[in-house]
Amino acid sequence: ELETRLEIRQNDEVGSLALEINHLAEELQRYRDTRQEFFANISHELRTPITYLEGYAKVIMDRLYETEEERDKYLEIIHQEALRLQHLVNDLFELAKMEEGKISLSLEWIDLAEIVGNAVRKIELKAGDKGLLLDTSIGSGIPLIYGDGLRMEQVLINLLENAVRYTEAGQIHVRLYEKDKHACLVVEDTGIGIPDDEIAYIFDRFYRVEKSRSRQYGGTGLGLPIAKKLVELLGGQMLVSSKVGVGTSFEIRFPLKEQGETV
Ligand code: ADP
Repeated sequence: ELETRLEIRQNDEVGSLALEINHLAEELQRYRDTRQEFFANISHELRTPITYLEGYAKVIMDRLYETEEERDKYLEIIHQEALRLQHLVNDLFELAKMEEGKISLSLEWIDLAEIVGNAVRKIELKAGDKGLLLDTSIGSGIPLIYGDGLRMEQVLINLLENAVRYTEAGQIHVRLYEKDKHACLVVEDTGIGIPDDEIAYIFDRFYRVEKSRSRQYGGTGLGLPIAKKLVELLGGQMLVSSKVGVGTSFEIRFPLKEQGETV
């Protein structure tokens, strides 16, 4: 029974063992709670798009629309929700693989400048559509890092997509530079920002700032946990700072190693 705690009477090895065991019991309890919450979240996230799919398909089947435009609007919702489901299932699968340590990385010496270029090219159109300026500054002569190029691009695209999604006006700035024997990659936006008391949770699975605005912006709430985990698997770290109404900045940092040295 996890709720049972040992009474600590002695102030010796037995006492500290009891303390240790209590600590483990608490940890197990926490793990059990998070797991339960995780499955509750998954069910909720899956149920919402399925409800839309079912509902709008029925409206069309029963011809409960008046004009063709109206019908097309419902079809578009069905399409959007199917895409959301697809995205969600892919993300869940990815996260599960990572947590079991089953993700395969193809490690090689990679040029972050090239990766920034590729990712920015893929996001330019989206940024342009929203009237956002997308601007890069890349330091010269930044040493290669030992990592997985495609995964790194995936992480960067994720941060850039978020930056576009959560910015209404202004610019997104991507910077790559070397500092204190680290390669630093920063994605900075002038978007809506993240409240101070919520910033600690944004790397948690399914966490979204203000639940109500999440549907409006789309997304699964799994992008950041996946991105952070990938960066850590590659030996780096991910940091965030933000100010509501001013903008958000994500930083990825990789320790630079001598070529030939392994991770
Ligand atoms: P989502 O798919 O909902 O974007 P993420 O895991 O990528 O999920 O992000 C988690 C939450 O963090 C988002 O729902 C959003 O509220 C917040 N967030 C992420 N990036 C930004 C950003 N650049 N500006 C403001 N809020 C952000």
